[in-house]
Amino acid sequence: MGESTGSTFAERLNRSLDAAGLKQADLIRAAGARGQKLGKSQVSQYVSGKTLPRPRVMRLLAELLNVDERWLAAGEGPAASGAPTATDGSGPAAPSSAAATASAASAFAAAPPTPARAAARPETAAPFPSSTAASESALQSGPGPRSTQRSTPMREFKKSTKLDNVLYDVRGPVADEAARMEDEGLRILKLNIGNPAPFGFRTPDEVVTDMRQQLPDCEGYSDSKGLFSARKAIMQYAQLKHIPNVSMDGIYTGNGVSELIQLCMNALLDTGDEILIPSPDYPLWTACATLAGGTPVHYVCDEEAEWNPDLADLESKITTNTKAIVIINPNNPTGAVYPREVLEQIVEIARRHGLMIFSDEIYDRLCMDGVEHISIASLAPDLPCVTFSGLSKSHMIAGYRIGWMILSGNKRCMRDFIYGINMLSNMRLCSNVPAQSVVQTALGGYQSVERYVEPGGRIYEQREYVYKALNEIPGISAVKPKAAFYIFPKMDVERFNITDDEQFALDLLHEKRILITRGGGFNWGKPDHFRIVYLPRMEVLHEALTDLADFFAHYRQG
Ligand code: PLP
Repeated sequence: MGESTGSTFAERLNRSLDAAGLKQADLIRAAGARGQKLGKSQVSQYVSGKTLPRPRVMRLLAELLNVDERWLAAGEGPAASGAPTATDGSGPAAPSSAAATASAASAFAAAPPTPARAAARPETAAPFPSSTAASESALQSGPGPRSTQRSTPMREFKKSTKLDNVLYDVRGPVADEAARMEDEGLRILKLNIGNPAPFGFRTPDEVVTDMRQQLPDCEGYSDSKGLFSARKAIMQYAQLKHIPNVSMDGIYTGNGVSELIQLCMNALLDTGDEILIPSPDYPLWTACATLAGGTPVHYVCDEEAEWNPDLADLESKITTNTKAIVIINPNNPTGAVYPREVLEQIVEIARRHGLMIFSDEIYDRLCMDGVEHISIASLAPDLPCVTFSGLSKSHMIAGYRIGWMILSGNKRCMRDFIYGINMLSNMRLCSNVPAQSVVQTALGGYQSVERYVEPGGRIYEQREYVYKALNEIPGISAVKPKAAFYIFPKMDVERFNITDDEQFALDLLHEKRILITRGGGFNWGKPDHFRIVYLPRMEVLHEALTDLADFFAHYRQG
């Protein structure tokens, strides 16, 4: 009969971590090194005692910590697995720290080089075989005394501190937890990523045929800005959008708009430079501005005003360090499309304060209800503007990775910035050439996407349904999106007692197996919103909305 400790799983887990000198992040890395996924929030839920792992994960934890699985799960039997136990006299045996460290260290070779841990680790557990004469001689590269038996603890390789404040929650901890649940064999309904293909939105046949035909000619690098044919088609598109002062050398293709956002932020921002970004935003903008060393400053978009930017708030946040305004129009996550008057006022503010304008217009061909999309650059011939778009959404080829940016307006004042852009563009050699080869086909002629966004079309009808169904749920309200395929509903936080939107997302995931993205993932300051991607087919959406209504009928965070 095994020994029962009377302690909880969380206590045993914490004790095992302490004994092994490991942090939660070490455990996640160790699991990763074994090809197993453990999410940050998942581990923190275990440690805080909120969730118990499933058997497969329990086994993994026990292995990583080198403790007995039965002891970890139920407090039965000795703690250590296959190693002498160290008892502290105060209760059941804690896991052998040496053995646990050895296990985890050998799993991910990243033990922090603290003297205590170095001492605890047996030589055989050294991450590199430096304890053998053969490997020592191979590793020794210079003169000096040869250390015979002493193994050098391997330093820990930490991520760059540049990433400390970077947030990209669309694929964050809640998505990690969903992936873990899928590994367990559970079916998760993913309403979190705007990726059309998995929901049956197919690339137009003509695009696929043309790519196939051109593949043999796409083997080499192209000009770093892109193929002539692609850039010419983009230039003609810019003409149709009335964007002034565009020339071929002001058009750059990228591996998606994503690459070009990063490139621009790196080219523009120095430490201390500020850039105005909407809240809520598509979080890549904030992430890239932060990574580039700049300071993102969020201006509020006003739900009461159809999610248009609050211009007073925007202007009040301009300082002498502000270099640029970012707008996302049509907007992800709100689905707003900014009217001409709003755009004109943003241009006026940029003009008054001498700011560049970056406009992310990747959803410009997905407008509904006859709403006209206006490129802000068309209203700002005297200002430095960069307009972004691509084929990921309008042509349902997110996986091909093709986007572009168009420099327009006042190019004189951005000469040095352009120099930086060219440098970075050359450094990445070029964007995916096969994907560039279909830009001309995609932008010209019949646009099949138009069918999706008119009455009777999938995106239109799915929006109608989701908008209505959400607003029928007591405690939930949502502004009707005018474009794209996202909706950003508001929760009555008092009614549901919600103080933590990540917890809400996890609770929904655990109970209904629906994955959404919390509002905080879009740099929204309050825990009162979430985003739904309404790309799934109507039947699936119907099931999801029924489940959501059921969830909110009883949910109280606590
Ligand atoms: N900009 C916005 C507003 C987006 O929503 C997305 C993707 O969801 C992107 C840019 C990235 O697009 P791409 O696939 O071209 O990198």
